[in-house]
Amino acid sequence: LRRDPEQREFHQAVGELLATIRPVLDRHPEYRRHAVVERLVEPERMIMFRVPWMDDQGAIHVNRGYRVEMNSAIGPYKGGLRFHPSVNLSIIKFLAFEQVFKNSLTTLAMGGAKGGADFDPKGRSDAEIMRFCQAFMAELFRHIGEDTDVPAGDIGVGAREIGYLFGMYKKLQNKFTGVLTGKGLAWGGSLIRPEATGYGVVYFTAAMLAHRGETLAGKRCLVSGSGNVAQFVAEKIVQMGGTVLSLSDSSGHIYDEEGIDASKLEFIKTLKNIHRGRIGEYSERYPHALYVAANPTLGWNPLWRYPADCALPAATQNELNLADAQHLAAAGVRLVCEGANMPSTPEAIAFFRDQGILFGPAKAANAGGVAVSGLEMAQDAMRISWSREEVEGRLRAIMHTIHRTCLEAAAAYGLEGDYLAGANIAGFVKVADAMLDQGLV
Ligand code: NDP
Repeated sequence: LRRDPEQREFHQAVGELLATIRPVLDRHPEYRRHAVVERLVEPERMIMFRVPWMDDQGAIHVNRGYRVEMNSAIGPYKGGLRFHPSVNLSIIKFLAFEQVFKNSLTTLAMGGAKGGADFDPKGRSDAEIMRFCQAFMAELFRHIGEDTDVPAGDIGVGAREIGYLFGMYKKLQNKFTGVLTGKGLAWGGSLIRPEATGYGVVYFTAAMLAHRGETLAGKRCLVSGSGNVAQFVAEKIVQMGGTVLSLSDSSGHIYDEEGIDASKLEFIKTLKNIHRGRIGEYSERYPHALYVAANPTLGWNPLWRYPADCALPAATQNELNLADAQHLAAAGVRLVCEGANMPSTPEAIAFFRDQGILFGPAKAANAGGVAVSGLEMAQDAMRISWSREEVEGRLRAIMHTIHRTCLEAAAAYGLEGDYLAGANIAGFVKVADAMLDQGLV
């Protein structure tokens, strides 16, 4: 880690894992003897490349593309692509590192990777998005493949981008294979893949509550984000009888005391997925709802101050800090379950654990997306499509298995009920054992 002192997000993700797996390293000296941690924190391969593309006015832009192939001990590399101006090597490495342990928890055979570009899709036309995706794939195609590395979506990469990326890959390789997941249903996609991450987060939340004899019915929930994950977190909460009070984007948040029900969610999906509008337009359509513009000078997010029972951050990393955690506790929140990757800062997590607030960590709670991506790969390999019920049933079973695995791994080290420790320990042990089995590679 001394090699890259400036990689703040990557150090944060590694630090979070190391803080909880120390008892495992003490009980199993073979992991230290074989330098498993030292090997885990160095990616197997990092690819960085130029992405030149032309906008609608004929101006030329140059972005930087990334693919970090972190670990392939338990399967081919698997993880999303992020298009966002904040993307840098530290962010991609943190995401790839998290992905290794998340994929390990899914019960499926997938290694960990992540990629993307510092490209800002906001305000770009469809034609510009297509040209960017084609330019990005013009280099990425030589590094990926259905048995090597299978990318998917993440922030800024949804169904439209996966389509353009897949089309270019197919043209360059002259091969129709399951090289990407999140594909359209007519060309190798899986039912429930768009819903999977969000639904999975809510199944995990419900399992945490059930373990304490409670249900989601009647619970008031604060949700952040309004993209793929947040939309389906909200949808499943409503289906399970809970109330969704808020959603957000990078411009601000909305608070609807009456609850964002199924028909209001349809408005949001159309606004975000088709018109690519801003969340503030919700309060124009539903004037009783409050819209609060984002204010980065505050140092905390007012979204986390409303009275509620549960909080599900589903926008981006480090969106919930210590001040936010204190506001949540004061507002009555007793459960936090992470939809986004690493949305809570280390100080916020320490506060939740000190206060006895139930905490569902991202690498367990949001593993449903990549799990259904794994199911999409299986369907592609067999050239069949499972029904909605089949895929959702498997997703629900996987989330319950992950929940149980976290509890069992934590209990094996005397850390009953500690989902963070349990997720890290269970995710780590499977990968570490596979690395030992495969020797020094
Ligand atoms: P989307 O691009 O669909 O949505 C992202 C949402 O978060 C948007 O509402 C966006 O607002 C908001 N957002 C992004 N960056 C910021 C920021 N810096 N400040 C405030 N809001 C921000 O992405 P996803 O829903 O797919 O991803 C959300 C999170 O979930 C990410 O952490 C991702 O890594 C994680 N995740 C996603 C999975 C998936 O299957 N898609 C799987 C597992 C984890 P705006 O539009 O204004 O930028």
